Amino acid sequence: MLKVSDRIAAMELSPTLAMSQKSREMKAQGIDVINLSVGEPDFDTPDHIKKAAQKAIDDNYSHYSPVPGFLELRQAVVNKLKRENGLDYTTDQIVVSNGAKQSIANAMMSIVNKGDEVIIPSPFWVSYSEIVKLAEGTSVFIPTSIEQDFKITPDQLEKAITLKTKAFLFSSPSNPTGSLYSKEELRALADVFAKYPDIVIMSDEIYEHINYVGSHESMAQFADMKDRVVVINGVSKGYAMTGWRIGYIAAPLWIAKACGKLQGQMTSGASSIAQMASVAALDGDQSSVVSMRTAFKKRRDLALSQLKEIPGFEIREPKGAFYLFPQVSQLFGKSNGSVTINNATDLSLYLLESANVATVTGEAFGAPECLRLSYATSEEQMAEAIRRIKSAIENLK
Ligand code: PMP
Ligand code: GLU
Repeated sequence: MLKVSDRIAAMELSPTLAMSQKSREMKAQGIDVINLSVGEPDFDTPDHIKKAAQKAIDDNYSHYSPVPGFLELRQAVVNKLKRENGLDYTTDQIVVSNGAKQSIANAMMSIVNKGDEVIIPSPFWVSYSEIVKLAEGTSVFIPTSIEQDFKITPDQLEKAITLKTKAFLFSSPSNPTGSLYSKEELRALADVFAKYPDIVIMSDEIYEHINYVGSHESMAQFADMKDRVVVINGVSKGYAMTGWRIGYIAAPLWIAKACGKLQGQMTSGASSIAQMASVAALDGDQSSVVSMRTAFKKRRDLALSQLKEIPGFEIREPKGAFYLFPQVSQLFGKSNGSVTINNATDLSLYLLESANVATVTGEAFGAPECLRLSYATSEEQMAEAIRRIKSAIENLK
């Protein structure tokens, strides 16, 4: 029989991208949908970065780059890690890929054997569990609640570790919760890892620049952890470059080499033009990073105050990223007469159909009592979206 592999059959479609596609289709039909589903900056890529790409084209950057990326870009990453994070890496520890998503997949494929366990704090970003599946590993989720600001405790971590634990994968700032771990909280988790030297820590720092409370804290800052931390980052979020598809890892040499080996057979490396644009992003003027963050913070504050007015939405202030993640379980069991809301997926569909606002069900992130709204959209659009959500919710009895 002609059919796809078990590997693909077992995999879920990316729900964030699927919801975004659905709202694109509704828009194409002339429906006025406000898309709060996908998480990507709505800003244009800053001009100096676009100019660098134009120059790269004119300078004939039209050939394959080295598999792990141009030395110039890897040096720019090394400089960035030193300048912004105080971390020392060499260029051979950096591997540039087609977005942080591929960086995570490369690293996972490089370290996980069939049956190995990967610990993931939940709620988690949708692709983590599917990437673990692809590597034939098993995800072990640590549940968290809104009361603990969706962050795990050292005790929870220790209880989740088994002889099969191979890796720990988390994001801070977090997608979808917007929570971030302080230096002290990371150190407390590191104290647990110190007892288990064979666990690799995959630290997804893609939202590093969208942090409203202070400096970014990386697990790699601890000398006793650094040689088993894979720092995952990229230009997508901080520089409004999602479509350019450039991410990278900074990792122990054995992992960097393995990722390069895999990438050499899978993609040959990332786009040469996008790589040169990324050099300009990392080396160039950083003022757009600051102005975008300021705009996101203003939107968060506005959206948060408006969302708090919605009955049945329990919410706390996210400290980073650009998502609101209200707990909406108080609405379960309510109905507008024809539709009954039994879970967050029902609510997300109800809001899409009756309010024409696209959100993502918390189910996709391992939190079936929550809903994710991205506020990477204009203040006017966000205010209008919340008005629509409010009136749709008020129709539920
Ligand atoms: N990690 C997290 C937590 C994300 O939200 C995203 C956004 N899609 C990624 C990784 C992947 O980013 P990129 O666009 O660089 O692949
Ligand atoms: N990080 C974004 C999100 O969570 C992008 C979509 C994706 O890559 O899944 O919406």
